[in-house]
Amino acid sequence: MSDSLESEASEELLAGWGRTAPTHATVVHPHSAEAAAELVATVNGRGVVARGLGRGYGDCAQNAGGMVVDGPSLSGLLNLDWEQGVVRVQAGTSLDDLMRWLVPLGWFVPVTPGTRMVTVGGAIAADIHGKNHHVKGTFAEHVRHLRLIDGFGEVRDVTPEGTPELFRATAGGMGLTGVITEATIQMTPIGSSLVSVDTDRTSDLDEVMQLMVDGDADYEYSVAWIDLIATGRHMGRSILQRGRFASAEEARASGAVDLYSYAPKHLPSPPDLIPSGLLNRRTVRAFNELWYRKAPACRRDELQTIEQFFHPLDMIAGWNRIYGHRGFLQWQFVVPDSGGEIVRTSVERLSSSGVSSFLAVLKRFGPANDHYLSFPQQGWTLALDIPVVAGLDRLLDELDELVVEAGGSIYLAKDSRVRRELVPLMYPQLDTWREVRRGLDPEGHFRSDLARRLELC
Ligand SMILES: Cc1cc2nc3c(=O)[nH]c(=O)nc-3n(C[C@H](O)[C@H](O)[C@H](O)COP(=O)(O)OP(=O)(O)OC[C@H]3O[C@@H](n4cnc5c(N)ncnc54)[C@H](O)[C@@H]3O)c2cc1C
Repeated sequence: MSDSLESEASEELLAGWGRTAPTHATVVHPHSAEAAAELVATVNGRGVVARGLGRGYGDCAQNAGGMVVDGPSLSGLLNLDWEQGVVRVQAGTSLDDLMRWLVPLGWFVPVTPGTRMVTVGGAIAADIHGKNHHVKGTFAEHVRHLRLIDGFGEVRDVTPEGTPELFRATAGGMGLTGVITEATIQMTPIGSSLVSVDTDRTSDLDEVMQLMVDGDADYEYSVAWIDLIATGRHMGRSILQRGRFASAEEARASGAVDLYSYAPKHLPSPPDLIPSGLLNRRTVRAFNELWYRKAPACRRDELQTIEQFFHPLDMIAGWNRIYGHRGFLQWQFVVPDSGGEIVRTSVERLSSSGVSSFLAVLKRFGPANDHYLSFPQQGWTLALDIPVVAGLDRLLDELDELVVEAGGSIYLAKDSRVRRELVPLMYPQLDTWREVRRGLDPEGHFRSDLARRLELC
């Protein structure tokens, strides 16, 4: 066997970002796409799934007792048309790397989640969205071509136009149609690497929702942080931040010397041994009060760096450990505009239930795409990090039902607990996806803990 076909392997305990349900798997680190294809061709038993940087919150990139292909083993730039901003990369490349290479050339990733530490493969597999969904749709909508190893170990070229069904099944397919080994992405031109940000502090939920409905169309990026501890007439008080990239002239006028600088920094990580009770209602109340008071009531045209505006949480490496050994979950739903009341009900029920969440964000989505398991649809999305506590499941189960009744869904990339019988109601194209998937992987080699828990395939 040549060197490039060899793969290193190790037994590892893998968990999602919420650290709630770790399982063991054999993690293989292929040296090449051919080696990854060879591994898939010979897999049996508990099957295989790809893993990126493990930023999915739940169990989507785990495969208990089976094999997991380490995506970042296959990373790097393959080709760049820097005039057109079209880049071809190996799928284990992180968005952070893409930005380090391309921001200095005046190109930004078309869509970024709240962390830059995700891979291109993970971004496609979860069909991720950012603060600009209402303008740019999902990440995968900017992918021109991808390479996929299917269940036979064959390499397929997949494009939105040439093989639309395979593309629709893979973008949002949570790694269950195969291993993505490379992708060609259309980047977005920027006039500088500074973001011009407008901030509005609102005294309740109605006010922030109205501001977003009235004004989001004027901004490229928009997101609201909600104080989930506030109750009574301040329930849902928020800090709304909306922005766009500053032009070269604006950046120059602010005194910026390097117009396209990108140099994110890390602060020290939290220690390993953090007691589980550290994040309680009292500490979160104090944090939220400080955060809310610190924000200006109304500020316009403040210039922020990419890191400050898009990825503030990345400044503290391993911040997920502040939840202690019990871990935490993220609950994210989307409802159509007609279900806006569910946002209010959820904030009301969660803030009055004693749940202590310091990270709750509200966004508006633009129109859905045609990827079979894509999460975003036109309307509202609320995402919250919640420490795992007794009684939480029951409350979230009840809220899930309201989401379904309103025609909405829960985000699979963040899920660790939804009831499986609700999934076909949330994802009405699930059967079509299953059919296309069967064509790619008739023997069902691609498996994950998420797929088994929700009986996705
Ligand atoms: C702090 C934080 C903020 C976040 N904010 C957002 C947000 O704003 N919007 C949003 O949409 N998401 C958000 N996420 C979720 C994150 O973007 C997704 O879970 C993303 O899929 C993680 O990518 P990853 O490389 O870490 O993949 P992993 O978490 O390792 O895997 C995620 C899924 O992708 C599959 N996968 C990974 N690589 C490949 C591959 N090469 N081929 C095939 N399948 C593959 C896995 O099998 C799994 O199903 C956030 C996560 C965190 C921790």
